[in-house]
Amino acid sequence: MYIITDKCLKCGTCAPGCGMTAGCDGHTCYIQCGAHGCHVGAIIESISQYIITENCTDCGECAKVCPNGAIIPGITAIPAI
Ligand code: SF4
Ligand code: SF4
Repeated sequence: MYIITDKCLKCGTCAPGCGMTAGCDGHTCYIQCGAHGCHVGAIIESISQYIITENCTDCGECAKVCPNGAIIPGITAIPAI
């Protein structure tokens, strides 16, 4: 799952799906237009920054559009000691 770090400046760029096509189901936007933010609504606004919820499908589109490099792949496994 992708995560949003404390580099987030709350600009909101990552949260919407394609903003170019009103009524788009998100999947269509993703296929046709590419990186326009999260297409499954997994990113929500919190008090100090945006956060990614468990609805994340790991597509990585949000990371491409973040102007601050605040979105990174989350840790999915704890390394063996
Ligand atoms: S994670 Fe990046 S694109 Fe999303 S609100 Fe924060 S700064 Fe903006
Ligand atoms: S990786 Fe994809 S599904 Fe997950 S929050 Fe980012 S845009 Fe949404």
